[in-house]
This record gives sequence, structure tokens and C-alpha cells, in this order.
Amino acid sequence: MATLIACPACNASVSNAAPTCPKCGHPFVQSGFTHGLNPRHTGQVVTIEKTGKGLKLAGVLGALVLIVSVVMVIVGLQEGSKDFPAIWIVLGVLSLIWLLIVRVLTWWKHG
Ligand SMILES: [Zn+2]
Repeated sequence: MATLIACPACNASVSNAAPTCPKCGHPFVQSGFTHGLNPRHTGQVVTIEKTGKGLKLAGVLGALVLIVSVVMVIVGLQEGSKDFPAIWIVLGVLSLIWLLIVRVLTWWKHG
């Protein structure tokens, strides 16, 4: 149901179903309208995570290895080959651990 709220930028009456103010174009966050009275100010930019380039690279590398090993395991399962590529399962688990370490290190750096 739509309720009329006051635009925080120009104070015009706006339906809370509108994504932006029709008068001034001020953007609204839909989730902020639970009580339809005090719309959250949306001008603030979310703080960008500052992760070290090395950690980012390690994370991307780990994700790539994980994807490749998962694909290889799926392919191996579909082919039903007798010599199942167990190495890919090991590699997948290792990359998961690797990603976990990267996550912990990222968290550690951020405090
Ligand atoms: Zn407005």
C-alpha cells in the first residue's frame, strides 16, 4: 500500500511507492519506508572496503582454482571415469581453505 511521505530534499508529498521524487528527482531507498514517515537520507555513499591488492589477488586466485576444480569434479562425475580425478577434490578443498585464510587475513587487516 502506498502512503504519502515528505521528500527529504524538497518537502513535496510523494508516494512511498515511487523510486524517486517526481518533483526534484531525489532517490528513495524502498527498504527505508517501513513506517513511511521518516525516509532515510540516501545521499551517503557506502564506505568502500580498502583491501590490499595482494589479498584481492589471492582471493581471486583462490576463487578461480575453486571454480576450475568444481568444474573438473562435475565433468569427472558425468563421465563416470574409473580413475576419478581425486586431485581436483583435494585442490577444491585446498582452495576453500585458501579462501578462508584470505578472508581471515582481510578481516585481520581491517581490525
Ligand atoms: Zn523532492
